[in-house]
Amino acid sequence: MLQQTQVATVIPYYQRFMERFPTVVELADADIDQVLHLWTGLGYYARARNLHNAAQIVVSDFNGTFPNSVEELEQLPGIGRSTAGAIAALSMNIHAAILDGNVKRVLTRFHAVEGWPEQSKIKSELWNIAQAHTPKKDVAAYTQAIMDLGATICTRSNPLCIKCPLKDHCKAFNTNTVSNYPGKKPKKTLPVKSVAMYIFQNEEGEVYLEKRPPTGIWGSLYSFPENNGDAKNGFALTRKRKSLEPLRHTFSHYHLDIQPELVTVKKNTKQVAESDRWLWYPLDHSVEVGLAAPVKKLLTALNKPI
Ligand code: SF4
Repeated sequence: MLQQTQVATVIPYYQRFMERFPTVVELADADIDQVLHLWTGLGYYARARNLHNAAQIVVSDFNGTFPNSVEELEQLPGIGRSTAGAIAALSMNIHAAILDGNVKRVLTRFHAVEGWPEQSKIKSELWNIAQAHTPKKDVAAYTQAIMDLGATICTRSNPLCIKCPLKDHCKAFNTNTVSNYPGKKPKKTLPVKSVAMYIFQNEEGEVYLEKRPPTGIWGSLYSFPENNGDAKNGFALTRKRKSLEPLRHTFSHYHLDIQPELVTVKKNTKQVAESDRWLWYPLDHSVEVGLAAPVKKLLTALNKPI
């Protein structure tokens, strides 16, 4: 769950998104580039892709009406078991359990459940506990309450146990072991991968970007070519090439060390203008496309006066 300061920061972005796509049909009909562009500032582009894809499924398979069972909700891209449960419980008062990060924290402490909650055995135990606690009546109120309790009282650090309505029965609190829960993720060292990114810049200062495939890292976002594709792209290279400061981008499962290479080229206007998978990106104003995070960083750096 987002903290209050984060919520305040992202609200204008959500408003802009909602104003542009006020109905599921408009979102489903939108071009993915525009959806990704409007998502800028909200983080996690995969959510934007899933939202767009889910809107298309709601329109095509559910006649534009949001599904009303946990099983159907779980079929939509980006909606896992806990989110499906939250949507069903909060918006339809359906008896369904949730187990998001806040709820996991409350339950591991309340029942003193040992181990890392993402480990499958522990997770399955927590789901059983979550289901046992979920009431048949007033499920929406219970769901909102346990989410809020985790977000405001049973917080990650410095939980306000003294104010907690569960303290009399909370095992961790009563054994003075709150800081032991939830159990930590076993440490592992992330592997490192390396890639060279080629920043082809033309005489007008624009840089060449390619749209990435829809799946894989930075799916459907625009990025720099990762191999020296001068012949493939029809560029006439000048002799100017400069290695820029390397940068590291960290994913959840590996570090990516990026070596940016700035290469001056002559613009092949006709060829590039004909493609919807490439574009010449002007540095002095933004274009309505989604950009991979390190690409955005490099474009900003290139636009700074030396
Ligand atoms: S007593 Fe403390 S640890 Fe237990 S549920 Fe409440 S806030 Fe969390």
